[in-house]
Amino acid sequence: MAADSPYPGFVHQCKSLTQAKQANPDLKTVNAQSLQQVLKTLEKAFKDRSERGFGFPRFKKPGQMKSFVFPQLGKNPLGEGWVKLPSLGIVKIRQSRPYPDGFEVKQARIVKRASGFYVMLCFQAELSIPDVPLVGQFIGVDVGLEYFLSASDGLQVHRPRFFCDLQSELKLLQRRLKKKVLGSKNWRKLQLKIAKLHERIGNTRKDFHFKIAHLLCDRGDVIVVESLNLVGLSRGFLGKHMLDAGLGQFLNQILPWVCFKRGKGCLKVDARGTSQECPDCGHAVKKTLSDRWHHCPHCGSSMPRDIASAIVIKQRAVGRTVQEKACGDGLAGVAA
Ligand SMILES: [Zn+2]
Repeated sequence: MAADSPYPGFVHQCKSLTQAKQANPDLKTVNAQSLQQVLKTLEKAFKDRSERGFGFPRFKKPGQMKSFVFPQLGKNPLGEGWVKLPSLGIVKIRQSRPYPDGFEVKQARIVKRASGFYVMLCFQAELSIPDVPLVGQFIGVDVGLEYFLSASDGLQVHRPRFFCDLQSELKLLQRRLKKKVLGSKNWRKLQLKIAKLHERIGNTRKDFHFKIAHLLCDRGDVIVVESLNLVGLSRGFLGKHMLDAGLGQFLNQILPWVCFKRGKGCLKVDARGTSQECPDCGHAVKKTLSDRWHHCPHCGSSMPRDIASAIVIKQRAVGRTVQEKACGDGLAGVAA
């Protein structure tokens, strides 16, 4: 491209795509709408770069693109155990759950993972979902590393060590990988095994997060969490453990989602100083990271440190009425 050529926006790229199809007949074998969706993703990447300070989009190597979208499906695209995809026809699937009644299927995304190919279907329906009133039993939740989570009602859940447990297995495989010839058949086999192990770690973690989120929803009506600077924490000396616990995924994605599905409220409060405050009298009680017990010299309050901060978090939320939306926008491939 010449230096003074205009910014290659989506429309411009679509025109280039038509030309590219003449030069590369292979492109014609791919669904036209799926190709356009890739251009749309690229446009978003450029936009995020200028507006949100993200990095420059990088070229993908073969095999690096993990998914693609069919933004529209034909008539009657779903059946028991199969989906009909544009330009591919009927594809058998192992259906993980029944299709929801009264919904219209809008798009299908094909995802490639180490364990195989997945189809993610997107359904739409005209529904109005009322905002959850923030009333009832409030539960404050403190997340940490000694305990994954401590709640203001006394519940404490130990930190799972998925990654650390499976890491020795991972290390072994990675050591073996070094001895293989790069790109050879055995190298590729081992690579796949490692990828599958990573996928299993992620799945186990996600499953744990969902179970904990449901457990919290069983115990209260409004779940109050602290807003943490997770990027900063994961760069600290406990960074590996922070990432292992996956606190960001839990606090920012899974917990709000489960609360939304269960009709429970989810609130975030300022996390500053929650561990240094007495929940019973409000006096400041200085603690270092190694002080695991809260003793208040002013009122005699005594309890585990994390429970004390969970109660402080809960107290900070009572009376608040603003609610964060858990989901609803940012769906890739859905055109305005
Ligand atoms: Zn006190």
